[in-house]
Amino acid sequence: MNDVLPDESARWEHFEETVTRIARSYGYRNMRAPIVEHTPLFIRSIGEVTDIVEKEMYSFEDRLNGEQLTLRPEITAGLVRAAIEANLTYNGPVRVYSMGEVFRHERPQKGRYRQFNQFDVECFGFSGPDVDAELMIMTFRILKALGIDDVRLEINSLGDAHERAAYRARLIAHYEANLGALDEDARRRLHTNPMRILDSKVPSVIEVNQTAPSLLDSLEADSRAHFEGLQALLTEAHVPYVLNPRIVRGMDYYNRTAFEFVTDRFVAGGGNPLTVCGGGRYDGLFEQLGGKPTPAIGFGMGIERILMLMPASVPNFRLDAYVVHAGEAAGRAARTLAEGLREQGLAVAVHAGGGSFKSQMKKADASGARFALILGEEEAATGRVAVKPLRNAAGEAIQGEQAIIESSSVAAQLRGKTGNAP
Ligand code: ATP
Ligand code: MG
Repeated sequence: MNDVLPDESARWEHFEETVTRIARSYGYRNMRAPIVEHTPLFIRSIGEVTDIVEKEMYSFEDRLNGEQLTLRPEITAGLVRAAIEANLTYNGPVRVYSMGEVFRHERPQKGRYRQFNQFDVECFGFSGPDVDAELMIMTFRILKALGIDDVRLEINSLGDAHERAAYRARLIAHYEANLGALDEDARRRLHTNPMRILDSKVPSVIEVNQTAPSLLDSLEADSRAHFEGLQALLTEAHVPYVLNPRIVRGMDYYNRTAFEFVTDRFVAGGGNPLTVCGGGRYDGLFEQLGGKPTPAIGFGMGIERILMLMPASVPNFRLDAYVVHAGEAAGRAARTLAEGLREQGLAVAVHAGGGSFKSQMKKADASGARFALILGEEEAATGRVAVKPLRNAAGEAIQGEQAIIESSSVAAQLRGKTGNAP
């Protein structure tokens, strides 16, 4: 579990602002659900025989009332529960996004943490494939806006339940014919959840998977048309994609469209391509959780992994001014001046804690502010302020000439010269 210190948080805020702006531009509205839910919600939605439910959930008994609770291991199930309770799709389909902490007890490594964050997007009440394509197009727009260009989109269709049942039988037969190559995990899954073996990261199993039958060959007319429709829309939008029949996803609720955005950037250590965003359609989940039949699709984007891919330099928040003051009257004038500047949208820190002019000027330098505003007894008495430039627009330290101006014209001075001003 990671701390995010102020120096790193500019990247987080840049991410949050970017995805919020773009999600809104597609008509998504924000939705938030608790990070703790009743344990059965996740068992019923994600599935009993999945990595997440078998070994990654932080589940506990509330000792005050005996309830079985779990820290959410993904965001979709909680949002669907909330949507059912609120009858959210009563007036028609809705697009929502959410962001926040997710918990999985995994072996920590680069890009894999026990508390991580997801940007989550869900379309409730849409049967697709139009909205499926729109989701992927939006994700590309987000990645581009964040300066990430080495991620590829992989898509698959998981078919509907009866198509998967037919496929399952063919798949089990294939693995039984290659039993020697299966590791313990795969053997255990053979009769409970054989499709998860397709997702294995064990080399000998990956080899057997190369020759495994493809679910795409088991699709019937409707699922096939859906998948072809999606591909036509992606092509029309000039969104590049590749078919990957081995995408199965880690939750049982998916059907038809499944997709991942992956990068090879961190494969150097002999690892697998890293998935930065994964999602799919879950047309049966509302009913399964006691709601009305509601087709839906969504994805979860791993924010930590996206931040790893973002360019090193991200527009950094910068104070417009740091106010240095000495004496009681100057202190009052400093606070009044700062409030006035904030009212006009400028970011201003007033020196706190006293000290000499010299030590206050050191703090002003260290604050990264573009200007120091200096108030002594004389300035306070005459309604003026000394303005000293400390940094240029690029944030580099400069030796600027100090100028004494009317305090009423400070805002205009700063606004003309700062990057943060509106
Ligand atoms: P992986 O195959 O890497 O384990 P997953 O299929 O378990 O990923 P999802 O359940 O689809 O992942 O979650 C959506 C996204 O959340 C992933 O694509 C990834 O970016 C991110 N993610 C998943 N697990 C972690 C983790 N432990 N730490 C950080 N990010 C994670
Ligand atoms: Mg996982």
